[in-house]
Amino acid sequence: MATERLQQAIDSLKSTKVRMTPQRHAILEYLYESMTHPTADEIYKALEGKFPNMSVATVYNNLRVFKEVGIVKELTYGDASSRFDCVTTDHYHMICNSCGKIVDFDYPGLDEVESLAEHVTGFQVESHRMEIYGKCPDCSTTAKH
Ligand SMILES: [Zn+2]
Ligand SMILES: [Zn+2]
Repeated sequence: MATERLQQAIDSLKSTKVRMTPQRHAILEYLYESMTHPTADEIYKALEGKFPNMSVATVYNNLRVFKEVGIVKELTYGDASSRFDCVTTDHYHMICNSCGKIVDFDYPGLDEVESLAEHVTGFQVESHRMEIYGKCPDCSTTAKH
């Protein structure tokens, strides 16, 4: 499943004439396999052993390229560093308040909310983002009282 989507991402990258480098491939692969919405820094740490000459800036630049092509979504959270999401179809996020882990969950798109918002405000809706906060199973079990 992950491999299939990875291949699709590689194909769309090829169709835009973006050159596939070993580093690009590794970053994409990490994104599609980890499913943890990593930050550029986490990706860098995971791959620095493989690519000793790669910098965090390189990782970030590559992520920006992926974002422009539309195979990666950037999730910004105020001042905290951005996280990157390889799933570009609509889905929602469950976020752990303790460790910051982000888990995807599927829920029918909230189209009705969008049309209502559009109707009430006169805005032209482009997208929406919904996040639910709590404590992940790991953090709940290791919590000390
Ligand atoms: Zn947690
Ligand atoms: Zn996600």
